[in-house]
Amino acid sequence: MKVEALKYRTVFNSGGHAALEVGIMSDKRWYFSQIPSGQSAGEREAKVFSVPEVQSVWKKINLQAEGRKFKNLAEFDDFILRLDGTERKTVLGGNVLLGLSLAFARALADGKRMELWEILREEFFGKVRGVEYPVIYANLIEGGVHAQNNLDIQEYLVLAQTGPNPIATVGELIAFYETLGEYLANKAKLRPLPIGSESGYNLIWRNNEEPITALAKIIKATNLPFRIGLDVAASEFYEDGAYRFEGRKKTTLNLRNIYAKYFKKYPGLISLEDPFGENNRDGFREIMKNSEGRLVVGDDLTTTNPKEIERCAREKLISGVIIKANQIGTLSETCLAIETAHRNGLKCIISHRGQETEDVFLMHIARAANAYGVKIGAPGRERILKYNELLRLYP
Ligand code: PEP
Ligand code: MG
Repeated sequence: MKVEALKYRTVFNSGGHAALEVGIMSDKRWYFSQIPSGQSAGEREAKVFSVPEVQSVWKKINLQAEGRKFKNLAEFDDFILRLDGTERKTVLGGNVLLGLSLAFARALADGKRMELWEILREEFFGKVRGVEYPVIYANLIEGGVHAQNNLDIQEYLVLAQTGPNPIATVGELIAFYETLGEYLANKAKLRPLPIGSESGYNLIWRNNEEPITALAKIIKATNLPFRIGLDVAASEFYEDGAYRFEGRKKTTLNLRNIYAKYFKKYPGLISLEDPFGENNRDGFREIMKNSEGRLVVGDDLTTTNPKEIERCAREKLISGVIIKANQIGTLSETCLAIETAHRNGLKCIISHRGQETEDVFLMHIARAANAYGVKIGAPGRERILKYNELLRLYP
């Protein structure tokens, strides 16, 4: 496929900040991508270039790529990765590389009259067959840096297993979100309820456990087959060798005991993401030994890096992994990260970012790879775009 022209522009993301849109022209048509960004980003993520910074590297990209032909996405990604030449994408920017990779993949797919997910499956998941319906990770109660409240834990997620009738599951999730909202509005005597970055409720609580109790209570009352997950995002409250949790300093062991208490009290709590800081490998190792089948998930720990995922799997630090394409930089590397995770028996949860755009590419990655889960926020506002793409791709 020939790259006939390239361009970029500013769009605004769900946080009201400038985000990057990239366009690639092929066969006289433009194909676009928009790139999200993290609010609680891991320290080993690919470098993000601000839109004005993109200007300084765009000329180089344009000069090198315009008019060139590539036989597939892997060849194109390889080309832009060599142009950058760094692990962390510090020369061209991880968001710029992903923008290019994704726009190229869309052009390639359209040229072959295929969906984006079909191109990804063909190129990177040759052995994957059929469809596996994902678990939706819906962030309904927000804390940490995604909210303006007193919760240290960043995300209280409801886990909903979809099946051959995903409309029914999404409908149940929406009803659950409303029922929970009604319950919380009555409890807090507050209407309308404030919401956080991902459209989950953003309230003041007695402690970090109370939202789990609320979710467990509504699950029981509605009798829906939902489970619970937490994204602790613990790197965000780790400082000077200790965790600052509920206003006190906690050691790794203190936190482990808190999680053990949650596990005992809430059997529906089956997924725990980033329970310790991104450099606290011993914390992960120890909690994995006592996880009893629950998923221990890496996000800031692994940053969608195939080498890191391989290492964490080998050291038995995690049983699941968050996949965010913009943590690493290109779709080829993202798909390699998933393949590495699957080869090592890890479950993959393809995730949005705290600040999202209208782009729904994450759902195509999930569909291509038959991923275990998709993490897409609360079923409201701008996040609903991802839900609707799920309904389109998982009929
Ligand atoms: C997360 O930590 O899983 C998340 C979605 O947040 P962010 O995009 O802000 O890193
Ligand atoms: Mg996370």
